[in-house]
Amino acid sequence: MTDGNGRKIEYLRVSVTDKCNFRCRYCMPKEGIRHLQHQDVLSFEEIRRLAEIMKDMGVRKIRLTGGEPLVRKGVVSLVSMLPGAVYMTTNGCMLPEYAGALKEAGLCGVNISLDTLDRNTFCKLTGRDELDLVLRGINAAREAGLPVKLNCVPIKGINEGEIEALCDFAARMQLDIRFIELMPIGCMHDLTGIPSDEIIKKLGTDSLEPIEDADTLAGPAQYFKMRGFATRIGFISPMSHRFCNVCNRIRLTADGYLKTCLQYATGADLRALLRGGADDKAIWDAIESAVRNKPSAHTFGSCDGSDIRRMVQIGG
Ligand code: SAM
Ligand code: SF4
Repeated sequence: MTDGNGRKIEYLRVSVTDKCNFRCRYCMPKEGIRHLQHQDVLSFEEIRRLAEIMKDMGVRKIRLTGGEPLVRKGVVSLVSMLPGAVYMTTNGCMLPEYAGALKEAGLCGVNISLDTLDRNTFCKLTGRDELDLVLRGINAAREAGLPVKLNCVPIKGINEGEIEALCDFAARMQLDIRFIELMPIGCMHDLTGIPSDEIIKKLGTDSLEPIEDADTLAGPAQYFKMRGFATRIGFISPMSHRFCNVCNRIRLTADGYLKTCLQYATGADLRALLRGGADDKAIWDAIESAVRNKPSAHTFGSCDGSDIRRMVQIGG
């Protein structure tokens, strides 16, 4: 499946819930969100049907996200229902309980959000005193044999002094870590992100060796090897180095809306089709048409036409 700008769409992010047990300041508005009613959320069978159609259209990788995907009851069974390679992005705190079952269900890997190693900062940022649980979750995922990557959003005055410590932690744990630039999606008006170049400078270009193999060049992250370590440090820079020209992803919200760009509301209401009795051909056509109209690029900063959904409702 190719969009109107010739980009081949191969990657689907599926938000399985808009609920979360954390309240990260950069993701969830202070006042919270109005949650979807149970009947408005796609069932696993509906997600499976859409995923099967999209697999036939060329999607080869699915990432389950949320809210927090592991708060959705039974999500482990969804992993085994879906075609292609299935991954998950999680805050990690339920991995001590679920890592083994996720591996058995066929999950290919987890990205775990870890913005700080300091208990107080963690509490302030997430609203929960659960750093220890997240660290146990990281261990549980590794012990279960799941490939793990860490995701960190650098924020001025919050975790900017911890970048080296987070890199050391990742290196000691033999895990890749990616720094994601803070995006203005709804609720981070009092927070200021740190551009990737600033972090690269801070870490020192002498200690970083660029990696430019086919695998790393294919994704949005720019990767480096920390000299002396086997693991990689990645930078995802939607703000300072837009990578929209190679964007190969689409998103499905928990209520079945196909979002073709992280910023804009452009897309298609697939739930209405599913529940209106549409056949696979009609759903295929709706997906194809939405993808054809995928915006060519985001324009974060000028908010014209931005989606009103918050990050917790989109899934990153
Ligand atoms: N709850 C899971 C988690 O925290 O990993 C999955 C959902 S979360 C919305 C997915 C990713 O989006 C996380 O890595 C999180 O750090 C990132 N994220 C959330 N809000 C963001 C923002 N405003 N800018 C950049 N990344 C953000
Ligand atoms: Fe934090 Fe993820 Fe929950 Fe957002 S969805 S509040 S990033 S744990």
